[in-house]
Amino acid sequence: MLGTIGKESARTRGASLPDPEKTRKSFTWDIAEAMLDGLPGGGLNIAYEALDRHVAAGHGAQVAIRWLGKGDDRRDFTYGDLAEQTSRFAQVLKMHGLNRGDSVFALMGRIPELYVAALGTLKAGLVFTPLFSAFGPEPIRTRMEIGSARVLVTTETLYRRKIAKWRDEIPSLELVLIVGETAPDGCTALAAAMAAAEPVMDVARTQPEDPALIHFTSGTTGKPKGAVHVHNAVLYHAISGRYALELTPETIYWCTADPGWVTGTSYGIISPLVNRVTMIVDEAEFDLDRWYSTIEREKVEVWYSAPTAIRMMMRAGAEAAAPYDFSSLRFLASVGEPLNPEAVVWSNRVFGRPFHDNWWQTETGGIMIANLAAQDVRPGSMGKPMPGIEAGIVKRTDGGVAELGNGDIGELALRPGWPSMMRTYLHEQARYDKCFVNGWYLSGDLAMRDTDGYYWFVGRADDLIKTSGHLVGPFEVENALIEHEAVAEAGVIGVPDETAGEVIKAYVTLVPGFAPSEELERSIRGHARKKLGPAVAPREIVFRNTLPKTRSGKIMRRLLKARELGLPEGDISTLETDET
Ligand code: ATP
Ligand code: MG
Repeated sequence: MLGTIGKESARTRGASLPDPEKTRKSFTWDIAEAMLDGLPGGGLNIAYEALDRHVAAGHGAQVAIRWLGKGDDRRDFTYGDLAEQTSRFAQVLKMHGLNRGDSVFALMGRIPELYVAALGTLKAGLVFTPLFSAFGPEPIRTRMEIGSARVLVTTETLYRRKIAKWRDEIPSLELVLIVGETAPDGCTALAAAMAAAEPVMDVARTQPEDPALIHFTSGTTGKPKGAVHVHNAVLYHAISGRYALELTPETIYWCTADPGWVTGTSYGIISPLVNRVTMIVDEAEFDLDRWYSTIEREKVEVWYSAPTAIRMMMRAGAEAAAPYDFSSLRFLASVGEPLNPEAVVWSNRVFGRPFHDNWWQTETGGIMIANLAAQDVRPGSMGKPMPGIEAGIVKRTDGGVAELGNGDIGELALRPGWPSMMRTYLHEQARYDKCFVNGWYLSGDLAMRDTDGYYWFVGRADDLIKTSGHLVGPFEVENALIEHEAVAEAGVIGVPDETAGEVIKAYVTLVPGFAPSEELERSIRGHARKKLGPAVAPREIVFRNTLPKTRSGKIMRRLLKARELGLPEGDISTLETDET
């Protein structure tokens, strides 16, 4: 009793009250820390949190990865299996004289070795960089150069096709490990090396601020940047997986993202294993029936996917989903691109659950803004800032930024300080420094916050369109377009115009059964005019077979614009589909 009175009087005497935001943050990180064990004897290592500690706690026999090969192959890997294999992998690195902080690159499809290489590298205290296996030789080479790769783990086919020619021109590259029993000259066969290695390994005593991963951004807006992440990120992977994705022990979870992108690593390897789920890994690319039957057969409970895939499902229609049983699903989430409200409503109807949109970037290392299970989903909104995350909408001013209010469109900014934030852009410190102004991290995305605190994506800062005095985000126009029954996907840009400043031009792909025609163009433009008003509706619509997209599934509006203006295409190393 006395103690309470004493505290109160200290306050009234003018002692400063704790900052509620700081209290909220530290409380969040306390919870995150409590979800982890830390290395026995001190230190923090992602691989230990993801695997070994679960084995130590008696969960070694639980399936960690259920791997579905391209054909009908189906193999289970328990936490015990992965702990052993990652130890063997780490021993192989050690035997080759590699040291803490050295850089290991992986280039392969979603095969089990990829997961072993990722966590084995971290276990050995080295730094891991995954590359998407469909990259061409040049994007692979430049990234390995930027990252001073000392080790590459790949398959024989990919090596012969994409690496062999220039391998000797990368002086830092000492060791090439080839998945399987045999290897071309100058390379080491991984299976043989692992079989000969010790099955146990002391986990490297890394500290929270030691580098763990380098992720290249998607290259949607230009040349990809290498974001450096540290072991401390695991705090955020633990807590955000729990609260934004509902990952609890033994949940059956499927993240469809490839580990070549940050989603496929943060939430396709680390977060799920730290949360001790059973995760599905599908080696194959998107295939509607395969996806639906995977959910049914494996009884997937939590599913994390992306708008580009969801729009493909919508394009195929609800009938294609009708024969399947989706009753195992309890939480659906989406990331990577704005999720059209249409898609949220559609999924709720077809799967009995809405997709929960969430927003983040390679730089942020983890989900920052999310529609949580406990909140109402607002279709078209990215949700609210995660616990421990302070977001704001700001406007750049001369030399600083000013905070904007609810309802204003501005740049989405975050207060730095969460554990999974990048620590630098590799070799681009100045560019990194430029992301921070007045204590905010500036995301480069435009958004709006409503009076209930939900955030709404408007567009990339570079993609904003100024037409007849209006500021228009492409997302708003694209949403209206895809509501038209014939439109499957849309990408919108502004093109210079003498009277309006810019006018809106739209590129669309069609739902099967519809064919391009002048009449259809008129119908789509009429629909857009009704939804958006004449000033904001597209002046012109171009039909395409596919939109130019990055391999991570993002529409490259800047490429549509560069072509429209006859400008150089810039870095297109991550470009995937692009058929006129
Ligand atoms: P680069 O930075 O090289 O141009 P990128 O920004 O596309 O590429 P990523 O880090 O993979 O690279 O993607 C992050 C971006 O993806 C975000 O800044 C945002 O523009 C977009 N994004 C991610 N999630 C969402 C979402 N839920 N809604 C809208 N946009 C999203
Ligand atoms: Mg970016």
